[in-house]
Amino acid sequence: MDPVALRHQLHQIPEIAFAEHATKALLLDTLAQIIGQADSRWQVHEFKNSTGILAVYTGAEGDYKLFRADMDALPVKENSSCSFPSTHEGFMHACGHDVHMAILMGLIAQIALLKPATNLMFLFQPAEEGKGGAQSVLAEGIIQSYPVRSAYALHVASGLPVGSISSKAGIFFGIPQEFDVRFIGKASHVAYPEQGINALHAGRNFLTMMDEAVAELAKTERVIYHVGKMSAGDIRNIIPALCTLEGTHRSLKSEVRDTMNNLTTELAAKSAESYGAKAEVEFLCSYDAVVNDASLVQQLSAACHELDLDYREAEIAMTGEDFGFFTTLYPGLLFWLGSGCEHPLHSDKFFPLDDSLAVGVKLFTHLALS
Ligand SMILES: [Zn+2]
Ligand SMILES: [Zn+2]
Repeated sequence: MDPVALRHQLHQIPEIAFAEHATKALLLDTLAQIIGQADSRWQVHEFKNSTGILAVYTGAEGDYKLFRADMDALPVKENSSCSFPSTHEGFMHACGHDVHMAILMGLIAQIALLKPATNLMFLFQPAEEGKGGAQSVLAEGIIQSYPVRSAYALHVASGLPVGSISSKAGIFFGIPQEFDVRFIGKASHVAYPEQGINALHAGRNFLTMMDEAVAELAKTERVIYHVGKMSAGDIRNIIPALCTLEGTHRSLKSEVRDTMNNLTTELAAKSAESYGAKAEVEFLCSYDAVVNDASLVQQLSAACHELDLDYREAEIAMTGEDFGFFTTLYPGLLFWLGSGCEHPLHSDKFFPLDDSLAVGVKLFTHLALS
């Protein structure tokens, strides 16, 4: 099994969250080739409610190390220079999850070859991109039916050369929380404003109040509050009856997430009330923070030293990663893997170099066996 060849195949068939069917079929096929004839050390589980796959290797008594790769792609039209581009028009592995899966399969191939006296689990997890894949696989309880000692994952990084690794102990990725706010007013002709309720004014007022409240909170906590889309009204001379805001906020502590959620609900209601409008608030996807175990980070930097890889201390990322649900349950480690690509994650030009795969397989294998 050649991880680079598998990566090329996966890159050509990107599928979005919970629709990773061709991806799953290819992974199952590859697993069958690697594991070969019935070997009682290996067990392959499929998940009932998603495309996830869990391969389990039992070579000894005792607990398990879990290695996880995410499977989903993005609704992005590929514009990279790669010679094996997406064949699924309008979809692309723009977050490098093709690389993550190929590296995990490379690790599995190493373990199948070496047959070590240890216990390992390999999770192909669907739907990392804001759709709750980690929660979905954890909800089925298969993973928790094994004694898991620690959990590992990597993410390709832009702006980091191949051969460089970066991570940090403690909070590594923050807590994202997506939300929608709707203000419902009443349309009327602009010449008779007293007959209408201006939902746009309620939305504008809400944003101002929210900005002031978050500025206060930001004096003591690291937070981001962002509305990326606001829309209201249909016609120039009509008072808007509806104003919708779509946003996301970021924090490092679950109490602070809750504070910003409460502020959103309270200030939306307050703003609506002052205009006689109605407010509706909906909280969508949120992840746990990724918190790295200090001793596992120590293990990572020692492994990099032994393997002659460049280890760098990372900054906290205000992006989210649903691997946070694993680090909440188990001592966990997530690290950046240098991709040799300068374009940012999720850009239509993001293309991690093939050379990054060998580094990932080597490092994962070292972590699995040490
Ligand atoms: Zn992503
Ligand atoms: Zn990603």
